Amino acid sequence: MTKVHRLVASPARPGLFAKQLCLLMALSVVAAAVGCGSDSDAMASSAMCFDTAPLPIGESIPSIDAECAPTSRAAGAAFAGLSQEGATTAGLPGEEAITIVTCGTGTPIPSDRAQSCTAVLVNDLFLLFDAGDGAVRSIEQHPLPIQDIDAVFLTHYHSDHIADLGEVISRSWILGRSQNLPVYGGPGVSRVVRGFNAIYALDDNYRTTHHGEDLLPPEFAGALPELIEDPDGNARIVYERDGVTVSAFRVNHPPIEPALGFRIEYGGRSIVISGDTTETESLLEASRNADVLVAEVLSEELTETLECGLKNAGNSRTATLVRDVRTYHIGTTELAQLAENAGVQTLVLTHIVPGFDNGSPQVETFFTTPMSRIFTGELIAANDGTTLEIGL
Ligand SMILES: [Zn+2]
Ligand SMILES: [Zn+2]
Repeated sequence: MTKVHRLVASPARPGLFAKQLCLLMALSVVAAAVGCGSDSDAMASSAMCFDTAPLPIGESIPSIDAECAPTSRAAGAAFAGLSQEGATTAGLPGEEAITIVTCGTGTPIPSDRAQSCTAVLVNDLFLLFDAGDGAVRSIEQHPLPIQDIDAVFLTHYHSDHIADLGEVISRSWILGRSQNLPVYGGPGVSRVVRGFNAIYALDDNYRTTHHGEDLLPPEFAGALPELIEDPDGNARIVYERDGVTVSAFRVNHPPIEPALGFRIEYGGRSIVISGDTTETESLLEASRNADVLVAEVLSEELTETLECGLKNAGNSRTATLVRDVRTYHIGTTELAQLAENAGVQTLVLTHIVPGFDNGSPQVETFFTTPMSRIFTGELIAANDGTTLEIGL
């Protein structure tokens, strides 16, 4: 059973802080019709051209309704995870709490963790922040009702934050999503989302043809890119629904421009998602008095040791890669101090660099123990499926 961390509401700690149909993009109408980006995301306009001509598929699909005996119900229930009914059973939490599930806590460094994925379930909304490799499997295992997903927010386009976006879009639709799925991100979001839509277009067509438009309405098969324009260091509302707001702010993850963090607010409670970043003023400001800060973190000590070991072993190429990684993530000491200065109530560590498996005792040795000497709030090293509830 997954342990649920119930966070008691408490006042802020005081004093702390195509076929080449798109060669000429002047033909924007044609471009839009074949799936080429034609919005303000210029990169998409020039590069995202693809062939949407329907693939020939078998015309005759036999009807094979099973003759079911009543005892088949039990067997059907065993496959609950495959069915809309089963997935719906997981349900969204009630209105008395905000629920955070760290559905993916890994990085590009191999471990048993799914890559970046944080779900926030608030006031009947299912908001997903990043979707790295393994995100969907983790979402369904824990289990979250992916067919009820309302919006996806991408911090940046490193593969460990977007690799499973296509599956988020596809699985939610297959399991019953009957509404548009907006995907929010900085410049480049159109290219990314339209790219996944293009990759899955054939599969979408197979499934609608096979199961029918009532079950799999083609208008909801893909996702809709939502551009966050000119983000800066000041958190700005980019999503507002039913009293829930999501603000985006620019963080520092060079050379990725822009990289974003997000702050979610509802009912006087606040959750901050750091994204990948070095220590920045914008993250400090966005985190002020947050109930929960879900933050990435890097161990300077471990990565330096790793770099030196690789150098001494003559593996200068990998040593250089490790050195470069150190330049664009926030260190343990910096994060602990930032969270303390911001007056964060609960600091949740995710995207731990270098990578350790879920539950590894080394996380305590190299991360939570030294950080708790600086950060005096609640400190949680998240695993895949760690669940937090914030009372309203
Ligand atoms: Zn990154
Ligand atoms: Zn990352």
